[in-house]
Amino acid sequence: MSTKTTTKSSTVIPDKVAPATSRGYKMKERGAQNISFGNATPYPIPQFEDPYLKREWMLEHMAGAFRVFGRRGFGEGSAGHISIRDPVNPKTFWINPLGVHFSLIKASDMIQVDGDGNIIGGNTRGTINAAGFAIHSAVHRARPDVNAACHTHSVFGKAYSCFGKPLEMLSQDSCIFYKNQAVYTDFGGVAVEKAEGEKIAKASGNVQAIILQNHGLLTAGSTVDEAAYIFTLMERTCQCQLLADAAEHEGRKKVIIGDEEAAYTNFIDCDPESLYLEFAVDLSYEIAKDDSFMTFTKAREAKAKKEKEANEA
Ligand SMILES: [Zn+2]
Repeated sequence: MSTKTTTKSSTVIPDKVAPATSRGYKMKERGAQNISFGNATPYPIPQFEDPYLKREWMLEHMAGAFRVFGRRGFGEGSAGHISIRDPVNPKTFWINPLGVHFSLIKASDMIQVDGDGNIIGGNTRGTINAAGFAIHSAVHRARPDVNAACHTHSVFGKAYSCFGKPLEMLSQDSCIFYKNQAVYTDFGGVAVEKAEGEKIAKASGNVQAIILQNHGLLTAGSTVDEAAYIFTLMERTCQCQLLADAAEHEGRKKVIIGDEEAAYTNFIDCDPESLYLEFAVDLSYEIAKDDSFMTFTKAREAKAKKEKEANEA
């Protein structure tokens, strides 16, 4: 496994925008080097030659994303799903089993499904959430740029979704969503039907953050890390928006970030490598606390230990 970095952008902001802000700040190449000073990014996106190894890495990071979501309280009964496009067979994807708490999910729990909903690999004894399949299969089919998608019924996303409005550029962090968000206003009931999933996928356009009105949040990324970080940020940004909106009703006035500054900030912060780095901070905490979700790594370590002991005997 090499650790070559990538600067490929998946957002709608072009790779080079000039001029920069009204203060003359210049934009350089996108990538984590913009926020990494002194040395290279501590978390470059690994590149894999073996798609089977890449699959295991993706599944472990997917399980790690669930652990982060669990710690943040995004669970709501059986609701919520993350999916990743399979790197071996890209017409199929992996999704979490129905009825397992986010904080208990392991990489080996994930279920591989084809476009028709047939379980074809992984945890073949598990059950899939019907709405999860309808939404995620439609997104993966309609969006070749999307390798991962996240959706939960988190509290602030659910609360803010009822307004059917995009997030305002209230803070530096909000700028991740600058020209990178959509609102699906046509809630058609719980999305167990294929047509409802397709409507949601169509409404997502080519952005990474979607507010599903009267429902919750949906995010997409080129890696599961990217989609998961945007999700955690979007949930908190909805919380900030609700706080700011409430304060505004008491007579305070908001200042909204200007387009040039928002575009500049998005350019610096919202590329796959930078977003991967942001999520790595949360993931590293989960790994340090309890890495039992990394079942493939654990199995490899156990095998290597056994072989070493056999060689020494
Ligand atoms: Zn839902």
